[in-house]
Amino acid sequence: MLSGPLFSEGVLFFSVSLQLRLVWGCDTMSVNQQAHTGHSYGPPQPGYQGYQQPGYGGQQMPGAHHSQYGAYNGPMPGYQHPAPPQGALRAPPTSGASPPASGAPVLAGQPVYSQFGQGDVQNGIATPAVQMQRPSISQPFIPGTAPTAVSQPATFQQYGPPPTSAQQLTNHVAGMQISSVSAPAPAPAGLGYGPPTSVPPASGSFTATGSGLYTPYSSSQGPLPVNMTHGLPSTSLAQGLSLAQPNFSGPPLSTQHLPAQAPGFVPPPSSTGIGPSSYPPTTGALRPSTMQGPSLPGQAVTGLPAAQPNHVSSPPPHPAMSGPPMTGTQGPPPPTVHSSQPGYQVQQNGSFGQVRGPQPNYGGAYPGTPSYGSQPGPLPPPKRLDPDSIPSPIQVIEDDRNNRGSEPFITGVRGQVPPLVTTNFLVKDQGNASPRYIRCTSYNIPCTSDMAKQSQVPLAAVIKPLATLPTDEALPYLVDHGEPGPIRCNRCKAYMCPFMQFIEGGRRFQCCFCSCVTEVPPHYFQHLDHTGKRVDFYDRPELSLGSYEFLATVSYCKNNKFPNPPAFIFMIDVSYNAVKSGLVRLICEELKSLLDYLPREGNMEESAVRVGFVTYNKVLHFYNVKSSLAQPQMMVVSDVADMFVPLLDGFLVNVNESRTVIVSLLDQIPEMFADTRETETVFAPVIQAGMEALKAAECAGKLFIFHTSLPIAEAPGKLKNRDDRKLINTDKEKTLFQPQTSFYSNLAKDCVAQGCCVDLFLFPNQYLDVATLGVVPCQTGGSIYKYAYFQLETDQERFLNDLRKDVKKEVGFDAVMRVRTSTGIRATDFFGAFYMSNTTDVELAGLDCDKTITVEFKHDDKLSEDSGALLQCALLYTSCAGQRRLRIHNLSLNCCTQLADLYRNCETDTLINYLAKFAYRGVLNNPVKTVRDTLINQCAQILACYRKNCASPSSAGQLILPECMKLLPVYLNCVLKSDVLQPGAEVSTDDRAYIRQLVSSMDVAETNIFFYPRLLPLTKVDVDSDTLPAAIRDSEERLSKGDMYLLENGLNIFIWIGVNVQQGLIQNLFGVSSFSHISSTLSTLPVLENPFSKRVRSIIEMFQAQRSRYMKLIIVKQEDKLEMLFKHFLVEDKSVNGGASYVDFLCHMHKEIRQLLS
Ligand SMILES: [Zn+2]
Repeated sequence: MLSGPLFSEGVLFFSVSLQLRLVWGCDTMSVNQQAHTGHSYGPPQPGYQGYQQPGYGGQQMPGAHHSQYGAYNGPMPGYQHPAPPQGALRAPPTSGASPPASGAPVLAGQPVYSQFGQGDVQNGIATPAVQMQRPSISQPFIPGTAPTAVSQPATFQQYGPPPTSAQQLTNHVAGMQISSVSAPAPAPAGLGYGPPTSVPPASGSFTATGSGLYTPYSSSQGPLPVNMTHGLPSTSLAQGLSLAQPNFSGPPLSTQHLPAQAPGFVPPPSSTGIGPSSYPPTTGALRPSTMQGPSLPGQAVTGLPAAQPNHVSSPPPHPAMSGPPMTGTQGPPPPTVHSSQPGYQVQQNGSFGQVRGPQPNYGGAYPGTPSYGSQPGPLPPPKRLDPDSIPSPIQVIEDDRNNRGSEPFITGVRGQVPPLVTTNFLVKDQGNASPRYIRCTSYNIPCTSDMAKQSQVPLAAVIKPLATLPTDEALPYLVDHGEPGPIRCNRCKAYMCPFMQFIEGGRRFQCCFCSCVTEVPPHYFQHLDHTGKRVDFYDRPELSLGSYEFLATVSYCKNNKFPNPPAFIFMIDVSYNAVKSGLVRLICEELKSLLDYLPREGNMEESAVRVGFVTYNKVLHFYNVKSSLAQPQMMVVSDVADMFVPLLDGFLVNVNESRTVIVSLLDQIPEMFADTRETETVFAPVIQAGMEALKAAECAGKLFIFHTSLPIAEAPGKLKNRDDRKLINTDKEKTLFQPQTSFYSNLAKDCVAQGCCVDLFLFPNQYLDVATLGVVPCQTGGSIYKYAYFQLETDQERFLNDLRKDVKKEVGFDAVMRVRTSTGIRATDFFGAFYMSNTTDVELAGLDCDKTITVEFKHDDKLSEDSGALLQCALLYTSCAGQRRLRIHNLSLNCCTQLADLYRNCETDTLINYLAKFAYRGVLNNPVKTVRDTLINQCAQILACYRKNCASPSSAGQLILPECMKLLPVYLNCVLKSDVLQPGAEVSTDDRAYIRQLVSSMDVAETNIFFYPRLLPLTKVDVDSDTLPAAIRDSEERLSKGDMYLLENGLNIFIWIGVNVQQGLIQNLFGVSSFSHISSTLSTLPVLENPFSKRVRSIIEMFQAQRSRYMKLIIVKQEDKLEMLFKHFLVEDKSVNGGASYVDFLCHMHKEIRQLLS
């Protein structure tokens, strides 16, 4: 072993001989070495009984760790329902009896903790009674060299005499002193920055002082009268879209007419193996087993042409994805649409226009390249469905902006459909939660389950409990009821809300959810006015607002103890790739300033969040950054099989107190590992270490793990490369999305119990099994970021912005969410990044402001039109300052006995959010084709039910869509062609797993732009105005080669440049003289001092600010090879991997609907 100084500046970096370093842990170490659990530092948790809730015993779920929240959940309503189906983010059922996988601590019942008396275990303090099991840690420095030694007698005790047995050698823990004489002085708190302002206070405008007090808000904000004018226009029913296609099943055209105009959705024989590029019949119960229309003579291929002639430069479609080529006479007859349609109804917004031939400026856009969807060769212009005549997303978005963007959305009325997510609008809370918190698939739900089943419209809410609000909207008030805590229904435990009915002069209230009558506690009593309303109605947020917070009492806390502030632990992969790419240095540099931006509570001067640091490759290095140290100390744990934390005191520290030591550490980490040759990494032990550290510190928190490779080093959670693209389109494709071991699910469960949220930053150069590595982040409410082939120059901007946002963002910890509903419906299924151990409680180790949970509801009884349906979402969480709170969101919906009312009050964007999550979870357990078929079938049924029950009679040749759902086909098609459900050859297995996990926590705005990207013509940008140019539809035929376009989908921003763009514009935007000089490797636009450049950059900045992730800028020159990637996002077009064009898909949906109706 080498010894001596490593650093040129004279830093002492001693690494002594193995024998000297291997030291038996003594007293302190023994605490770490509970061989049977690895949980030895668990906080004292006698019995782990759960919250002791005075008054009403919490429901205990035997064997599941969530029982700690029993009292919060309260007794279940009078029904018991079956567990939701096993899904994407479901952990295995927790019976409590099943033993965890090897290395996973036992959580159920928490027997591990029970042996510790209260207060037995302290950070770093010896617990002599605990038997030492194995050697583990070494003296971190040569005795006598470190002045800090004297200050830490307790730590020293653990370093006993050198080990003598061979076994000890294998379990060694090395430690060394790292120091830097040239360490910079501590940076002042705001070094180089202004005071942090980006994290809005959760309750900044409120001062909670005593029971029942809160800052009163102006009575002018009180609810509007109910008869306000914000309801939906009720005209849509009679104006269903119609798309007449009398000849849809007419005589076959020659197959030369097939492309684009001739959809592939001709009826395939249902019993044959269907080419992947087609839309085969679905298997739903309502589907006839055979389909109408001419059948193909014994061939499996359906109408889509396999070749994509216009993508000359594109790679061939993945073999598994392309159907056999079609030959001339075998093609099924394509539907035709004639230009004169007698029964054709012009749609109100004009989006249904005339049928037309090829567009004038389209065919010629690409010299030498046939236009999209056209077959080469002399063809008579086929009659085709005019793309301008089918429902346009752009038109719908524009109409909503114009109609609803100017006035605030006031939430005082039950069942109002909010403006679209693409519309800018102000929300005023007058009794229902803002659509920023909750959006529903329908705001008018069927009274009976039969009706709901008939319509097939999923009843779901997309909930974003901690959503960030615009600055001009009020944050939820924090209500403090003092010692007694929030007022709740005695039976269902619903929280006091505007829908509770006070009776008997105000002495009791009747629950709006379960009808139980509860006494009003004396301290909460208030008289009623002549309308039956409490006279303090406007003074109490919980009586008059849709969203508010309660300060939780100690009985809502684990072990009846208020929580400690959370901690952030930064865990950096220092293996060869991470060091070589410059990543390690980049992270360390960034952290030095980023640590000043840890989330703070409202008006607090500094963040309460403590920080800790770990580096790792095959072994883990912990750092003691205690403020009293002159230099940080490193402790190495190489026994990764049974992870423990070698130090407690000095591991988690306050940034300001330990700044000198932290900065010194961050300066030295890149140097220490500069010459590493270690390429292998571990992964699960890293999470375990972080979790154990939080447990030892008795706090919740977040791990920021920066990881580069498949963890193949010998350790728990070791993975193998099992990527196999041959599985695509087979019944085994689902295994690509499944974790390869259950180890991580068990680990996730432990993390959730500790409130340990994991955010994972991945920098892979090859497959690293996102499906498995992502399990813990996904089940702990964390995030995954992926930067494939990370290169400092092009990717650091994106990574650093993501990291900054992630560190700063508002986040709650150790959270439990419960959605209560009024009698008649109940929450049955949940989608998102969380863990559930029973059927009702969504457990989130962490929940940040960008995460949503989609909740599906089912009937269990009849609803009434009079009382409507109510939802109450209650989120119990620990704030970033360690305050325990309840955030409550209430929403009232209408109920209907007429299907037309349902279809009039739907929101397609939310429907798509639900359907995408439903489908993306489905691929875990079903063949992807089955998932696609199920989606198509369900949507066909939704639309068929409308046609049958709501639309006025018309010819069967007409496609009639409900006004609120006229975009359902186009958006659904985008989901169907997405990389998860229909991957192209260029999409990696990791990409698919990554996207699948990303979408699972997206809100409605994010899924909307992800599936249907925003496309803006840049030459239409008005440099003197703040308004954006009108967006255009995502189709190549809308592009002009004389223009530039900006496309964003929430993950990337593209700028597409046509070959004929004016030279002046190119000069202004890129600072080069011509098209050919534009570099397609640019990751940012050059900063040029001209109005056009400024305006375009400001638009990009604005888009960046709107998204939760930094979008990478990709420059695409027309006819460049990157254009293939760009075209992938032109989602109205046919895609190279077989995804249908919008026109084709609409025809297919029409056929499906007709079959359901016949
Ligand atoms: Zn109740």
